[in-house]
Amino acid sequence: MDPPYAKLEQLDSGIGRLLAHNPSAFTYFGTQTYLLGREEVAVVDPGPDLPEPLDALGDAIAGRKVVAIMCTHTHRDHSPAARPLSERTGAPIVGCAPLALESVGPRADASFDGDYAPDRVLADGEPIEVDGTSVTAVATPGHTSNHLCFAYRDALFTGDHVMGWSTTVVFPPDGDMAAYMASLDKLRQRDDQIYYPAHGPAVTNPQQYVRHLAGHRMQREKQILSIVRDAPRTVPDIVARAYPGLDPRLVVAAGGSVLAHLLDLERRGLVERLGDEWTAA
Ligand SMILES: [Zn+2]
Repeated sequence: MDPPYAKLEQLDSGIGRLLAHNPSAFTYFGTQTYLLGREEVAVVDPGPDLPEPLDALGDAIAGRKVVAIMCTHTHRDHSPAARPLSERTGAPIVGCAPLALESVGPRADASFDGDYAPDRVLADGEPIEVDGTSVTAVATPGHTSNHLCFAYRDALFTGDHVMGWSTTVVFPPDGDMAAYMASLDKLRQRDDQIYYPAHGPAVTNPQQYVRHLAGHRMQREKQILSIVRDAPRTVPDIVARAYPGLDPRLVVAAGGSVLAHLLDLERRGLVERLGDEWTAA
């Protein structure tokens, strides 16, 4: 299959999708930017600041008025194109908050866009108007503390919270497993009919899929608990046992997710840390 780089795909009336050429072990074929609206548009997750995707985005906008540039969160594959796109179009940057990167120690690594500066931050449940239709922020912390999904008609734009190709990386200290699970639960209370993630195909069975994701995390938690019950273990040791045959490029991310589970279990009094090792409490 040829990924449709730089080609605007019209998915539904008023929903266009554009794939940026930034494939990786974490982005699948790349970041998918969405254009909402017909006469005028909002741009969801403008993507990395690379010349080719930005030009493709300009072509897709095709002279229409851009009413907002909306970011789900501030990882470098999502938000850096917001500023140059804003300069080209005059549109405001609206959506997630910038991270307080140093407020509780170094929260963020090189994967964060430290230059992100929104013109307006949307609170949970706050709508903006795009071409006569509301786009509403749904706060979904967990993957990052500032993550938002955006609801538009019967669709939810899920960023990296729920993806169509892979489970989401939850990397402490900014990533938080308890918050992530609560944000999955929040989606189960909604009746969105389709999810459009920033990576991977659309999810056409949202309720079932979110239930599956939550179940998968609970299985993983059980597995980690049983591993540290046998003997005190380091995070790399737990990763080796819990993820046999893991792609070496994903070992660091898996370590992050294991640590996120351990920190959550520690808060609930189920595990303890002994130096580098973790054990059942
Ligand atoms: Zn991300």
